[in-house]
Formats: sequence, structure tokens, C-alpha cells
Amino acid sequence: MPRSRRAGPTSLLLGALILLLASGCAGSRPAISVTRIPGDPPPQSSFPISVDRPTVSTPTNAPAAIPVPIEQPAPPPAAAVANPPTNTVPQAPSTPPPTNWVRLDSWTARHPGVRPAIQAGSKILRIGGATSLLGFEPLPTQGTVLLHPLDVAKNLDPLLDSSPPWRRRSVVIDPGHGGVNAGTRIITGNRFEKEFTLDWARRLKPLLEAKGWTVTLTRTNDVDLSLPDRVRIAEASGAELFVSLHFNSAFPSQTAEGLETYCLTPTGMPSTLTRQYADDPSSRHPNNRFDAENVRLAWRIHRNLLAAVGMKDRGIRRARFMDVLRGQDRPAVLVEGGYLSNPGEARRIATPEYRQRLAVGVANAFD
Ligand SMILES: [Zn+2]
Repeated sequence: MPRSRRAGPTSLLLGALILLLASGCAGSRPAISVTRIPGDPPPQSSFPISVDRPTVSTPTNAPAAIPVPIEQPAPPPAAAVANPPTNTVPQAPSTPPPTNWVRLDSWTARHPGVRPAIQAGSKILRIGGATSLLGFEPLPTQGTVLLHPLDVAKNLDPLLDSSPPWRRRSVVIDPGHGGVNAGTRIITGNRFEKEFTLDWARRLKPLLEAKGWTVTLTRTNDVDLSLPDRVRIAEASGAELFVSLHFNSAFPSQTAEGLETYCLTPTGMPSTLTRQYADDPSSRHPNNRFDAENVRLAWRIHRNLLAAVGMKDRGIRRARFMDVLRGQDRPAVLVEGGYLSNPGEARRIATPEYRQRLAVGVANAFD
């Protein structure tokens, strides 16, 4: 996963804390290895739902059918949604919520073909066979839940439009890391994220071209490329979409697993992932012009990837520190194709067969 700026010097104490707490693939500027940075979920042997830092514990089986329409009945809610831990369900608020919050039953009554699964006190949203993480915890109310208006506008309403978020079929595929910026190291050996992202991109390019897409790769060999350069390449190409490919790490935890897809946090909403960066909800970035298209693109890719590889669904998430996304003048997403810190996933990622399935999964989103 890319970081927006080079980490500054840290004390030994902070360094130890970072190693203890952080997760995610290595930054693109500082070289090699590390990998865990405050703000990510801490190492853990399972993924309990927590109010402050929701994680996804949905089944690993993928949705049965891919082409999208949300008008199809949604699959059964995830176990985590159906049976939330009792200690995360808040009591009815003692003061009335803001009047602009939206009743879920009213929203679904206006959109009868859509059946989102949402639980009070949990940011997990299940819709159309994939998980997304809300910006705000829904509030309990009589017979339904209340949703923050930004979640309705930025996470639910965009998915009512199942048409493709493109017109010309031109895309930039960005293999994360490269050169001295190796990304995270695989737990099972001495290979690095940069090799796997490049191979994923090389496999994806011909699949997209066969569907009539014009494809630009930000790098085609093992070179270091800054995040601003990746954005500049997208600018120069004139492509209408941008997809960055990465693999994840939660080292030293070896249990974190699954797929994540990121897009830029809409203005006014807190991010799912902040790492050590200040997350200013009032900030507005160039890519925020594409909030609706971002989540539509993320949802298509995430859902198709789940179907192609059958891994745990960790959800569509939001971050605003990623320069490679927020400076984009086009819809842009970042995909984490599994955990190199998880021995089981690492062994799969190390196989060409798995990377081909990752490529097919992304390509299927561009039909
Ligand atoms: Zn990465």
C-alpha cells in the first residue's frame, strides 16, 4: 500500500510501537520491508467487530454470480451482521439524533429492489454480494436504523446506478512499488510485493485489451516510481480510470487475511484507515469530484475479485492519505489482493495460478 509521504525520523519507542501496532503493505518511498503502521487494525487472531475499528468477518465464499445488478436479491447477511456481538450494540440514544439522518426502512421503501444489510452500531454494510464499510455507525431507532446522510449519499445511493463508470474504455493499471521500494516481504521467503504486483498487472493488461480496453501500465519492469509520477503518468495517458494493485501485510500477525479495496474518503466522512496520518474530514481533494464513480468502480472490482479468488471479504474501505488516489482527476481505486504476512495466502499469492485469478477477477469488473 502506498503512503503519501516519507515517514519522518522516529524515536526507538515510537519505532517499537509502530512495529507492534501497524499493518498494511510497505510504503512506496521508504525502501523495503516494514510494514506495520499505527492506525491499521492491530494483530489479532480473529476479526471481532469493533465500534472504533470495524473489521469484516464475512464468509470466505464468494458471491455466486458476478454481473452486478443490485436489483437482484442480496445474499443473506454475513454472520457478523446477523449475529452481532452484543457488546457492540448501543442502547437507544438518550438524545434525539439529528433530524437529517435517514431511516433505512424509508430508503429501502424507495428502492425496493435493493436490500442492504445494516446493523445499528456496526459500520458493516452488505450489499449485492460484497461488504463496504460505512463512515458512521448507524443509530438504533424503532424498527429500523438511522443512517448518516453522507453514508446514504456516498455509500448507498451511488450503487443504485449499476451502469459502468466509464465511456471510452481506457485505464491505467498501477503495479504498486518497484525498484528499491520493494513493498512488503512475503512471510514464506525472500520475495517482495513489487514482484507480485507487476506480475498481476502484466497478466491483467492482455485480458483488458481483449475486451477492447486501452491499457497503460505505470511501470513495466522493476523500477522505483514515486506516487506523484504515477499520477502524472495517468494524466499523460488521458485514461479515464486508475487502478493501483497491492498486497497487504499485518506482520508480525500471521492471521489477517482477505481482500480489501480502497477509495478516497468523501469530504465530511472519517476514514476507515488513517495509519499515522491526520485524517481531516473537512479536507477536499481533486479526486473527491469522483466520489460516486469511485465507489461504483470499487464495488465492481471488489465483488468480481471475491468471486474469482474466493477469499475473505474485508470490504471496500476509505482512506484519504493515499496520494496515488487523492490527486487523481479520474475515478481511482487501490486493491489489496491478499496478505503476504499470512502463510496460507502467501503461498497462494506466490503461485502464477492465483495471480492469474486475481487478474481475471479485476478484468471481469471491466466487462
Ligand atoms: Zn503496497
